[in-house]
Amino acid sequence: MKSIENLVRENILNLTAYSSARKEFSGIDGVFLDANENPFGDKNRYPDPYQKILKKELSAIKNVPIDSIFIGNGSDEVIDLAFRIFCTPGVDKAMTFSPTYGMYDVSAGINDIELLKIPLKNNFQMDVKSVEPFLKNKELKLIFICSPNNPTGNLLNEEDILFILDNFKGIVLIDEAYIDFSSSNSWSEKINQYPNLIILQTFSKAWGLANSRVGFAFSSSYIIHLFNKIKPPYNVSGLNQNSAVSALQNIENFNKNLQTILQQKEWLKKELSQLEIIQKIYPSDANFLLVEVENADFIYHELVVRGIIVRNRNNIIRNSIRISVGNASENQKLINALKEII
Ligand SMILES: *Cc1c(COP(=O)(O)O)cnc(C)c1O
Repeated sequence: MKSIENLVRENILNLTAYSSARKEFSGIDGVFLDANENPFGDKNRYPDPYQKILKKELSAIKNVPIDSIFIGNGSDEVIDLAFRIFCTPGVDKAMTFSPTYGMYDVSAGINDIELLKIPLKNNFQMDVKSVEPFLKNKELKLIFICSPNNPTGNLLNEEDILFILDNFKGIVLIDEAYIDFSSSNSWSEKINQYPNLIILQTFSKAWGLANSRVGFAFSSSYIIHLFNKIKPPYNVSGLNQNSAVSALQNIENFNKNLQTILQQKEWLKKELSQLEIIQKIYPSDANFLLVEVENADFIYHELVVRGIIVRNRNNIIRNSIRISVGNASENQKLINALKEII
């Protein structure tokens, strides 16, 4: 892991991690007088800092070894920790392919990391030839690839991702928040082959647990060790760990809801395609549709007036609106409202 170690910030390598009371004793039964907890109540104990039960369930379903899994307080925590492990503020750089998920930019800003934003081509695919000269830049430490991409909705081409993996020696983070809605396999199969690869997924979308704030990363055990070293000790609450475990134990419910969302997406596509104000529906491998309209600001506000909130992406992709696939009644209300606006 020498090559990865060279990418880690000096202060992180030298850091002595906080050792929580619960870390040192991992048994279940005992008289716990070690953490200044209150002896009364049913939420009085600190949660498992390493989320062992959750990781065991996740490992079985995702077919990734436990020591290659990190659990974060949402994927947003994982993104921030990646900056803090690998990028020295004011010195190092990261790369994104725009337009993409807004948190990479915010997190880069918070960590004082310059972001090289490489525009996607007109088909929303990466222009890897244009990034090739940057890949040798010693200050470029982290590349974010969001696939399926938000807000464009498409998977990024496999051969382009492979090109980056084969030509970049820094960290490649593939954000797969929407992978379960797509027909594609996860890149997690490649973590053994590429020790610099981090896969990011979340319970917020296909698992229906946005409220619980649980994200997870798959990577080499060395990178997972680095995440564990710098995370806040009890970063995922016991309530949230339990809700994720329950979801994993009810895979039938997951599959049922996933199928319903995918059917509703097809219904929504068909209905939208019949409306004159919808000029284009972009192909989507996710649970949302990016559509082009004549006047996105106007339609956005007309929908708000009718109590329907979509995401106006006009400032990012001209006259585009991003619509999350809702349940049948929500989708019907959207279509009814759009018909009124004409
Ligand atoms: C929604 C989303 C996430 C999820 O973030 P959480 O913090 O896990 O809720 C991550 N990445 C992308 C691209 C997203 O759109």
